[in-house]
Amino acid sequence: MQEKLFKIARVGLHYFEEPCISGESGSGTIFFSGCTLKCKFCQNYSISALNEGILVDRETLKKCMLYLQDLGANNINLVTPALYVNLLKNSLYETKSALKIPIVWNSSGFESEKSLEGLEGLVDIFLPDYKYSDDDLAWEYSNAKGYNEIAFKAISKMRKMCPVDEFDDNGLMKKGVIVRHLVLPGTVDNSLGVLDRIAEIDKDMYVSVMSQYFPTEQVKDHPVLGRRITEEEYDKVINHFFEVGLHNGFSQDPSSAIEEYVPDFNLGNLNKILSNL
Ligand code: SF4
Repeated sequence: MQEKLFKIARVGLHYFEEPCISGESGSGTIFFSGCTLKCKFCQNYSISALNEGILVDRETLKKCMLYLQDLGANNINLVTPALYVNLLKNSLYETKSALKIPIVWNSSGFESEKSLEGLEGLVDIFLPDYKYSDDDLAWEYSNAKGYNEIAFKAISKMRKMCPVDEFDDNGLMKKGVIVRHLVLPGTVDNSLGVLDRIAEIDKDMYVSVMSQYFPTEQVKDHPVLGRRITEEEYDKVINHFFEVGLHNGFSQDPSSAIEEYVPDFNLGNLNKILSNL
């Protein structure tokens, strides 16, 4: 019997990623419990901070990936995988040859360059966050020391591993990097600094500038985090995107700031997969 090493909160198709990731058939998400950051405003709080989920072994994880592929997923989307990086390298090595769809590394950006070594050839698409250029804010909101430099180096490394963005005839990404930035209320300067740093890495990089922030229960009374962002804040960030020479990316309609986009962490299809083992 294999050791149960991975804690998973949800397995299922997800339709609210960037269009080149979700497509029409959905992205095959596997949500791992825990996260390298501890964001006060986390929209996945029950799994990132409270560690909800169940433990599974390597064989079950493999079955999850194959199940999602059979379901018609456009890719296998490993969400908050960084705490399991070394175990995942072995797992992906074993499973990769059975997969015809890309593997997506969907992470917080707060991970060391060293930990990413060895993912080359196993991960096809990196989808990291770049949350902060302001380290004080990173400490205050996400309990992260030195976030800016760590994320800069990690994303630079990801870009070296995946230097070219490739899409199929349907516009689905097959290889590449998309950096996500969630605009937070009252912190436009932090967002502008993030875009400056991404442009320093590569002006051709795809950047997803997200407006979907909404205050969760944990921060609803917070003096700054207790509100959604304004259109003016979002527009300033989008203008800066072009000012610094970025030209590939995705924007969101501010109306997308709705809780319905956050999946239920009720294990999704995991129970079905476990009952067929
Ligand atoms: S990086 Fe994302 S998943 Fe992790 S705690 Fe922050 S908001 Fe939550």
